[in-house]
Amino acid sequence: MKYVLVIGDGMADFPVKELGDRTPLDVARKPTIDRLAADGIVAEVKTVPDGVPAGSDTAILSIFGYDPRRVYTGRSPLEAAGSGVKMKAGNISFRCNLAAITEEGEDYRAQTMLSHSGGAIDGQEAMRLMNDLIATPAFAAILEKYGMSFTVNPSYRHIAVLETGSDRVETTPPHDILTQPIAEHLPKGEGADMLYEIMAASWAVLKKHPINEARRQAGKMPANSLWFWGQGSAVQLNSFQEKYGRYGDAITAVPLVAGIAELAGLKHTPVAGATGEIDTNYAGKVHTALAALQHDDFAAIHVEAPDECGHAGNAQEKVRAIELLDSEVFVPLLEGLEALGERYRILFLSDHYTPIVTRTHDGTPVPYLLYDSGVKTGRGLPYCEKSAAAMNDRMEEGTDLMPLLFGL
Ligand SMILES: [Zn+2]
Repeated sequence: MKYVLVIGDGMADFPVKELGDRTPLDVARKPTIDRLAADGIVAEVKTVPDGVPAGSDTAILSIFGYDPRRVYTGRSPLEAAGSGVKMKAGNISFRCNLAAITEEGEDYRAQTMLSHSGGAIDGQEAMRLMNDLIATPAFAAILEKYGMSFTVNPSYRHIAVLETGSDRVETTPPHDILTQPIAEHLPKGEGADMLYEIMAASWAVLKKHPINEARRQAGKMPANSLWFWGQGSAVQLNSFQEKYGRYGDAITAVPLVAGIAELAGLKHTPVAGATGEIDTNYAGKVHTALAALQHDDFAAIHVEAPDECGHAGNAQEKVRAIELLDSEVFVPLLEGLEALGERYRILFLSDHYTPIVTRTHDGTPVPYLLYDSGVKTGRGLPYCEKSAAAMNDRMEEGTDLMPLLFGL
């Protein structure tokens, strides 16, 4: 038997006015997915337990069988693992954005958050700004004093690791405070002064950088400040293979999911052209999954696009992202699985809601679809929120999904 998990990030939604009070899953033409749904089962699962923040970090931990109430320390350590950062016990990692804030006067506290992505800075400029910042003697001395090191990525998303410290500091995701004064949202609690000192020092250096001078002249926002958030201590996960007796590859464009796979002891083969956007390399992802299934028994395909469309509040694009999942992922995936000639099971779900109306994550229980090529249930319902709710058989713990898929 071969086992495939497909996650359409943030697909689930509430009825959208623009779609005639239907949801994107309900409206999308997805004949292949709906054929599997009709022959399989569709029901609800609670992937985000009460009391933990709703997001792909907590929801996908649940889906892979790791209870976020027990293992979740923050977003950053998972992303760090997916970016090749090996954290030691006692280390604290932070997600560190290269953000854009205002430049009014000399008081860092008096500024306003303009962009969590440094005004959509491109990878090469971001790398140069970060590397030049870290090499600036006065700034390097501060990092040295606190035992902080950086892993620089070709984007606005970087990782900072503290040798030792506390994760009991309160930080705010910069995308949650766009256009707001930063004063209210600066770090609070243990270690807050240190983070503030580094952020303010980064602003003093970055606002003078020639790249930012040029960006201002070109009418772009300057990527002029570090912004820390998502911190957490090193995470350890039990081996997926030891838990379930299955092994394989998790194919994704996002460091978060790669990190969960890494910590779970699964492969996470990178795919060229996998962007995490609607123009991702679907064929490459399916090809990589099928290649893994030649010798392993498990593959996961994570597609980020529906979530991005949800954050953008774009209902039509969200429908299109779901239709592309059907035509560009499910059609070739099923062809490949049939060609392998073995019985197979597919679990397909949205990790969490990313509603068009709220444009942020929501922990409402999501619809899941389980299909077994050797069983025809004849239930005949499509894959959507409504048919999942109609089943009236909600799975209360997302950690029960893998045992369901594997028939354990
Ligand atoms: Zn999201």
